[in-house]
Amino acid sequence: MDTCTVETGLLKKKPCGHAAVTHCLNCEQALCAQHAVPELTEAGKKTGKFVCKECKGALREIAKNQPPPAVKKPAEPAKPPPRPLPRNLLPLLLRTPPPSPPMRAVSISPRARSERTAQKTE
Ligand SMILES: [Zn+2]
Ligand SMILES: [Zn+2]
Repeated sequence: MDTCTVETGLLKKKPCGHAAVTHCLNCEQALCAQHAVPELTEAGKKTGKFVCKECKGALREIAKNQPPPAVKKPAEPAKPPPRPLPRNLLPLLLRTPPPSPPMRAVSISPRARSERTAQKTE
């Protein structure tokens, strides 16, 4: 039967020596119930596996240093630069409605004049 190999003691380190109930998932050292740290999933559920305190700390450090799981907010939607108007469209937009035809100066058309003159002569 394995005994817990977690070192205890503040001044003098010595193996715990308790009957091991599991092994560290990471370093595979024997762990007693007291020193086995349940490994939890991200959701906080027990995986049924255990790690030692040291590895737990190390794993936590790793997790801390890793970029957080993909919950990143969608980046600010990049504003598309103001799009220049398509060249072929520009003239259409710039084209002003054709000016209303200028009032024709009341001019006597040659035909009318001739008619008038014709009337005169008659
Ligand atoms: Zn370990
Ligand atoms: Zn122990």
